[in-house]
Amino acid sequence: MDEIRIADHSGLSYTTTCYFFPKKTEELQLFLVNNPLKKIRIGGGLTGVSGGAVPSEDECFISPTFLNNLAWIDQDSGILEADSGVTMHEIDVFLKQTNWFFPSMPGMPKATVGGMVANNGGGPYSLKYGKISSAILSIQVVLANGQKCEFGGTATKISEGIDFKAIFIGSEGTLGIITKVIFRCQAKIKHTYFYRFVFEDFSELLSSVPVLLTYDALLLEAAEQDALHFSSNKNEHVIWLATSLELPKDASNYFSFSRENETIMEERFAIGKNLQTYKPFIDLDVSFGLNTAKSAIIALKELLTQHNFENIFFGHAGDGNWHIHVFFNDDRAKWDTCLTKFDLIVRQHQGFISGEHGIGRIHTNRFRKGSSPTDQALYKSIKQTLDPNHQLPSFY
Ligand SMILES: Cc1cc2nc3c(=O)[nH]c(=O)nc-3n(C[C@H](O)[C@H](O)[C@H](O)COP(=O)(O)OP(=O)(O)OC[C@H]3O[C@@H](n4cnc5c(N)ncnc54)[C@H](O)[C@@H]3O)c2cc1C
Repeated sequence: MDEIRIADHSGLSYTTTCYFFPKKTEELQLFLVNNPLKKIRIGGGLTGVSGGAVPSEDECFISPTFLNNLAWIDQDSGILEADSGVTMHEIDVFLKQTNWFFPSMPGMPKATVGGMVANNGGGPYSLKYGKISSAILSIQVVLANGQKCEFGGTATKISEGIDFKAIFIGSEGTLGIITKVIFRCQAKIKHTYFYRFVFEDFSELLSSVPVLLTYDALLLEAAEQDALHFSSNKNEHVIWLATSLELPKDASNYFSFSRENETIMEERFAIGKNLQTYKPFIDLDVSFGLNTAKSAIIALKELLTQHNFENIFFGHAGDGNWHIHVFFNDDRAKWDTCLTKFDLIVRQHQGFISGEHGIGRIHTNRFRKGSSPTDQALYKSIKQTLDPNHQLPSFY
């Protein structure tokens, strides 16, 4: 078998001769039945930033990217069925000429349905519609022993005990291989108004987030001045706001802003894309309630500045979810000390170490330190049931 190199956007990579790209679910099942006890790492579009899809030495890479059927179950009610290899871009194209809209939209068009569900992905419109979990009606999974299971259905309201499909949302390839998902789309929004708000002071920007959310916000994204060096290079702190209603006339008494069209969002998305090639970085994807977000972000900024780490803050501020990129110049020892303090601040503000990018291989130790004994026990018992031979990676 030829060697292939597997790399995502975390900085991890691995070259292997052990890989399998099934073209049908039955082929995947057969492979697993014929290879009992094999250690497995699942990958999709490899756009992840936490290393969860990159195999290590003893693991065989399985990627269902060739499972790529996408079809309506019922176009009238916006219900569609997508194999796990279908990409975000393919869903966008599929819906273009319809009245339906898929609100998840992670930054990378190559992201697959399997990867988005396994990471509980989100995007700018998660503010209005929730993360991808809110759109999922049913999930089909193949377990490590080859058994195919289905959870949920096309009904939108079910109360038959525990919602087992939720176990696989955010499971990051540790419980089974997601092979098919049924989604419910949202009706397309008729009118969207885009605005760009500017602030001289980052703290003033942070205080404005809850106020701007009251303007019937569909999305609210933000970036501090340093982050804009990767896009428009303007010397200001910015909030991009989209609303379904025009802003009230008196908004200009309180804020400095301009009316824009949708292309303004490119200024925001260019940041994440352009920084990829700047310097090695660590991506910290923190998430807070809006009650603690401002004080947490200020404390984290102060910590990184005190330790002289080059850093930028931007992200889905309306959701309290910030992407903090630290360019740590390969100074591991200094960075590890700072990271411990960073995580302490996150927990002191009742925050989480990931809002959408997941744990993967990069953040495992941080995640373990912060999780409760009950969480760990519950996860281990689920893992024991679904993957008793521990063929898939594990959070613990
Ligand atoms: C510039 C940039 C911007 C980004 N912006 C966003 C954003 O706005 N929102 C967001 O949510 N993410 C964002 N991401 C992260 C990334 O695009 C998402 O995490 C995406 O959902 C990963 O999908 P993937 O198919 O590439 O998965 P991969 O990277 O291939 O895998 C990610 C994880 O999912 C698991 N997995 C993959 N397929 C399956 C499957 N079929 N069954 C079970 N487990 C599976 C893997 O084991 C791994 O743990 C961004 C990344 C970049 C580089």
